[in-house]
Amino acid sequence: MTITDIRGTVKLNNGIQMPYFGLGVFKTKDGKEVVDSINHAVEAGYRLIDTAALYGNERGVGDAVRALGIPRKDIFVTSKVWNSEQGYEPTLKAFDHSIKRLGLDYVDLFLIHWPVKGKYKETWRALEKLLNEGYIRSIGVSNFLQHHLEDLMTSSSTVPAVNQIEFHPHLVQQNLLDFCADKNIQVEAWSPLMQGGVFKIDALKQLAEKYNKTIAQVVLRWNLQKGVATIPKSVTPARISENAAIFDFNIGPEDMVVIDHLDMHHRVGADPDNFSF
Ligand code: NDP
Repeated sequence: MTITDIRGTVKLNNGIQMPYFGLGVFKTKDGKEVVDSINHAVEAGYRLIDTAALYGNERGVGDAVRALGIPRKDIFVTSKVWNSEQGYEPTLKAFDHSIKRLGLDYVDLFLIHWPVKGKYKETWRALEKLLNEGYIRSIGVSNFLQHHLEDLMTSSSTVPAVNQIEFHPHLVQQNLLDFCADKNIQVEAWSPLMQGGVFKIDALKQLAEKYNKTIAQVVLRWNLQKGVATIPKSVTPARISENAAIFDFNIGPEDMVVIDHLDMHHRVGADPDNFSF
């Protein structure tokens, strides 16, 4: 991944260009809050919005995207099918609901939100159909560990374009990153700021001082230098701008290692091998 600026993209394994930096909207309220945060983000240069059926704000995301006044092709919209709607027919129906709520003709990236046992292969088959029909430009997964990816790839020749996983300095999963790189699956970080947890890590405070940046900026820049796309969430205009100001410095290799070594295999979210929702 070559890092240029906030508009920079990475080429997915199906040739689609995806911005490697974007806005997450988990827990952002539908309506004014999500519309305002997207407007501010786009003004600051963001070109990717990450939502999901679960977040309950696809309607607001679509309203904001349609009203931006920039060509639809210049905005990258991701959504996801929720666990209770997995399986072939339910996924087709769930997608229909998502796209209607968004009010868009197509979605740029659609993900299987979690690897629901016994279901995700059928869910994938539905996503392949929607991809072939042009309703989705690229399909991917989220919260898939190596064994889930291997299992999926035994029954389908469509390699997921993206695997969106929990990723921050306390959860690096280098083996999974290496596996995805080997299969040309782009990794994307969720909760890159550990939902606020990164601000308490002393080593990051020191690095922030060294680079004259904030902790959030150091962490998000580390994501990109690891080759990981990232989608920090904020509804606060100053933070939305702050998080985007990461294209004017470079973390040295010795400090990349310092951050890598903060790994504690610590999750703030569920374990993909053991979740019950
Ligand atoms: P993040 O790690 O992005 O942290 C978001 C929190 O950090 C918010 O409370 C926000 O506050 C605060 N924050 C943001 N920027 C700053 C800053 N510069 N300084 C101080 N505080 C800051 O958590 P998320 O869990 O939201 O993850 C990001 C996105 O990843 C989600 O929004 C969603 O799109 C996706 N996701 C996907 C999952 C999956 O299973 N696929 C699971 C979880 C998330 P405030 O908004 O008040 O400014």
